[in-house]
Amino acid sequence: MQMTDQSGEALQKTWGKRPLIISGPCSAETEEQVLETAKQVAATGKVDILRAGIWKPRTKPGMFEGVGAKALPWLQQAKKITGLITTVEAATAKQVQDALTFDVDILWIGARTTVNPFSVQEVADALRGIDIPIFIKNPINPDLELWTGAVERIARAGIKQIGLIHRGFSTYGNTDYRNAPMWHMAIEMKLRYPELMMICDPSHICGQRDTVLDISQKAIDLDFDGLMIEAHIDPDNAWSDAKQQVTPEQLNQILEDIIWRKENTASPEFHAALDKLRQQINNLDDELIQLLSQRMKIADKIGHYKKENNITILQTVRWNEIIERAMKKGDILGLSKEFITKYFDAVHMESINHQKKIMDS
Ligand code: PEP
Ligand code: MN
Repeated sequence: MQMTDQSGEALQKTWGKRPLIISGPCSAETEEQVLETAKQVAATGKVDILRAGIWKPRTKPGMFEGVGAKALPWLQQAKKITGLITTVEAATAKQVQDALTFDVDILWIGARTTVNPFSVQEVADALRGIDIPIFIKNPINPDLELWTGAVERIARAGIKQIGLIHRGFSTYGNTDYRNAPMWHMAIEMKLRYPELMMICDPSHICGQRDTVLDISQKAIDLDFDGLMIEAHIDPDNAWSDAKQQVTPEQLNQILEDIIWRKENTASPEFHAALDKLRQQINNLDDELIQLLSQRMKIADKIGHYKKENNITILQTVRWNEIIERAMKKGDILGLSKEFITKYFDAVHMESINHQKKIMDS
């Protein structure tokens, strides 16, 4: 790889740093815009890596598709001026080669590439024998196997430094987010790959700048390793993703406002208090399991009556009544409608399975 010693050293120091902050424009537009954005994000003193999209995968043809390889020298120049290491998205073998020729330090695989094993494999093949860190964004759709598959393809190409980026998932009819965070997906991926960094990209989750701080805070609360936030010197006039980009000044404020949490502390008082609370949780969980088991025993009895009287297992009117009662009670006790629905769906399913066994016996 044609990496200068200086940026190689900076890269090794940066990779794995917590929190790792990546920022820069959605797209490189002009030399001036790239250099000025780079200078201003670097001036915050809080950014580790400069990002810029050069080849932009767009949903519809005719939209701005990135300026292409001509922006690579701009990034090289930005690195020289600011000392920031650089990252771009690469989706084809040619893009990988072009980026490497111009000393890009880290490549990332975008959400629209992760969904396609052919493309991921093409990128993986182009990376064989090259020592460069790779970030892998989650696929557009909530499918952990595709994300996992991409990690495996890149790892099999011999890449040692892999990071994950959670940018949310596309869902039909969802209005709150551009891409729903579905935090449990990222958490599950963290459990599968505890050794890999997990970065959150709040810009693509939110799709608007006002909520970037909230989502960033949530990610940090969930022990993410860092953030990728899009910043532009003139966001409203950006050529792509104008609504979600922030100015370098706003970026600085967001990074200032985030309450940075650590996963652990050595303080014995803290551990004693935590142990006590965890014991209480364990006790309550034991009780909940006991209660659920009792509930199922009653469901079994109902199952017997239904069988004797030839009545269907599913009785929608009764079920709606249960849910409505629970929602009302949950609301008073501070439990969200979403939780109550998910919880009762699971309980209902278990109950139906119990009754079905009895009917079939
Ligand atoms: C981007 O980072 O600008 C981008 C296109 O992201 P994603 O692949 O997450 O949509
Ligand atoms: Mn973008």
